[in-house]
Amino acid sequence: MPDIKTLESYVGGKWTMPMTSKDTVDAINPATMEVVAHVALSGADDVDRAVKAARAAFNNYAALSLDERIVLTEKLIAIFERRYDEMVRAITTEMGAPYNLSFNAQAACGPGHLKETVKAARAMQWESKIGANGNLVHEPIGVCVLITPWNWPVNQLAAKVGPALIAGCTMVLKPSEVAPLSAQLFAEFIDQAGFPAGVFNMVHGTGAGIGSALTSHPDVDMISFTGSTRAGIQIAKSAADTVKRVSQELGGKSANVVFADAGLEAAVTRGVLHCFSNSGQSCNAPTRMLVEASGYDKAIEIAARVASGVTLGDPVQPGPHLGPVVSKLQYDKIQTLIQVGVDEGAKLIAGGVGKPAGFEHGYYVKPTIFAQVKNTMTIAQEEVFGPVLVMIPFTDEDDAIRIANDTPYGLAGYVQSLDLEQARRVARRIRAGSVHVNGAGQDFCSPFGGYKQSGNGREWGKFGLDDFLEIKVVNGFYAA
Ligand code: NAD
Repeated sequence: MPDIKTLESYVGGKWTMPMTSKDTVDAINPATMEVVAHVALSGADDVDRAVKAARAAFNNYAALSLDERIVLTEKLIAIFERRYDEMVRAITTEMGAPYNLSFNAQAACGPGHLKETVKAARAMQWESKIGANGNLVHEPIGVCVLITPWNWPVNQLAAKVGPALIAGCTMVLKPSEVAPLSAQLFAEFIDQAGFPAGVFNMVHGTGAGIGSALTSHPDVDMISFTGSTRAGIQIAKSAADTVKRVSQELGGKSANVVFADAGLEAAVTRGVLHCFSNSGQSCNAPTRMLVEASGYDKAIEIAARVASGVTLGDPVQPGPHLGPVVSKLQYDKIQTLIQVGVDEGAKLIAGGVGKPAGFEHGYYVKPTIFAQVKNTMTIAQEEVFGPVLVMIPFTDEDDAIRIANDTPYGLAGYVQSLDLEQARRVARRIRAGSVHVNGAGQDFCSPFGGYKQSGNGREWGKFGLDDFLEIKVVNGFYAA
């Protein structure tokens, strides 16, 4: 039996156990169901200590030049790239992302975001003249609390920590207690890069345990949160009394509008595989496939065939297979929602409840597709966060847009049409932060974030940097 590590927090430049809390939680590998680490859970006193460390470091760090902060960040990037394979393994172990996905996408978001943030900072005008004699300046917002989820763990770390470091902020990161290994490694990289003590602090803990201590702390200026809409609402309320900036990246239930003349074979295949990727655990996954009525039956046939060809497998092994979902909690929630779909009268054309044959051990879910779905059904409204696709017919463009926007969320949208003018028209009318036409991906320089209950922040590149900056004008800066 290998030695199971207890993960410590990182405060004021030192690895540290909680001051008084003796609580721990086990991190579980979802493919093997084995405990891979014990997480020492912080208490409110540890949060206070971390915030004090960040506050104490703020003035000196904010006073460094942009070039000095970039030099430190470039060291961090170099360390990340040198230890890349360790990060790939950490992600696969903690949340079950298969090797190909961990290597090509999950871990790649680390250097990807950090490099893009450096580039955006270099291109940005930090000071400029405004009006008759004013000087407009961008300054770091102060002490930031960064709270991240488990589903794209390094993406979210890098998209928050990177711009906070470059902007000159100091910070307390609370990573997901479900997937703490990648954050632990990321903190090691930061330690190795030599950032001044107190600039970056990390406390392990749960939302119930220290969420309120973090988000109501009077000495915290800003909160950047990614996670569920449920937690996002609680955090905004908790932060309101001290008037903090709160940037939220929340859930989604994104529509994929497929026109009958889109080239159905390719468009439906792409949509199904995209929905199932990361075992359906992406906030911007295209989970509602809206298909023009004249192509609906054909689309169902293609989707069922594609689903039957999707393989599951050991996430450690290279290959195109899917891994498990992250935890028992998620597994149970997904099973319940699949059953609700059946009970509400949707028709299963792939998958269903129960463990897939040959994968009884580990939190594997059958890739599942429902047809004859109405947009009012629970499975069309609630975020399932598993490999579950719903297919809904539409009559015309207006009907498609009505259904696409009939959701409390607004994170992403997808349009498939060979008529580019039509695709552009529909994309303009979808109320979401990013829309993808005919399978186009998104660059690290583009904004990521949602409308409506998908949040209010915009991360990535220059947009992420803006979140961590105050704007000040000094009037009379220029002599008359
Ligand atoms: P979650 O909301 O349960 O937890 C996210 C983080 O918030 C964790 O670190 C958790 O400990 C913490 N937390 C929970 N309650 C808290 C509270 N009251 N106060 C402070 N912190 C609290 O979400 P999850 O299950 O880890 O992640 C999945 C969710 O994240 C999905 O809804 C998904 O759509 C969303 N997500 C959104 C984006 C985006 O950019 N919009 C990206 C990825 C994931």
